[in-house]
Amino acid sequence: MALIVLDAGHGGDNPGAVYQGRQEKDDALALTMAVGEILERNGVDVYYSRTTDIYETPTEKALDANRIGAEYFISIHRNSSPIPNQYTGVESLVYYPYGAAANMAYSINAELEQIGFVNLGVNVRQNLAVLRRTNMPAVLVEVGFINNDADNRLFDDRFEEIAQAIADGILNAL
Ligand SMILES: [Zn+2]
Repeated sequence: MALIVLDAGHGGDNPGAVYQGRQEKDDALALTMAVGEILERNGVDVYYSRTTDIYETPTEKALDANRIGAEYFISIHRNSSPIPNQYTGVESLVYYPYGAAANMAYSINAELEQIGFVNLGVNVRQNLAVLRRTNMPAVLVEVGFINNDADNRLFDDRFEEIAQAIADGILNAL
């Protein structure tokens, strides 16, 4: 049974991106819990970095994952941009552009594209602690822009399908 860390981004006094009162930390937690439920039903052993509205630093989260010997680390976020409705779509971030993490990132993006999100691709980001400090393959998924009205409509209207898509993307890459 695979042991996977699911990390809902931000939390507590760190809301992440905010748009018209909507907070990234809340979207991230709701979606993370929904994805985890599906993974658990499929025999995955899920460790949640948080299940409530609390804050832990990305470095602490990475070190927790290392300590428990997780096989994958998936962090769930919403994207944002300087100007509302400037960008649309999903993007996954990885430390290296190849290997197990990148494969899973492509798999997750492909599933989300089928729901209707624009696929902005897999991009390398080496300054993020959850990607840099984890010693297992790690993917940070930006599930649409929180300051894009169409992305939010998709997020809300097809929430369960989005959770299923991310879970399928993970399961297909295990
Ligand atoms: Zn974020």
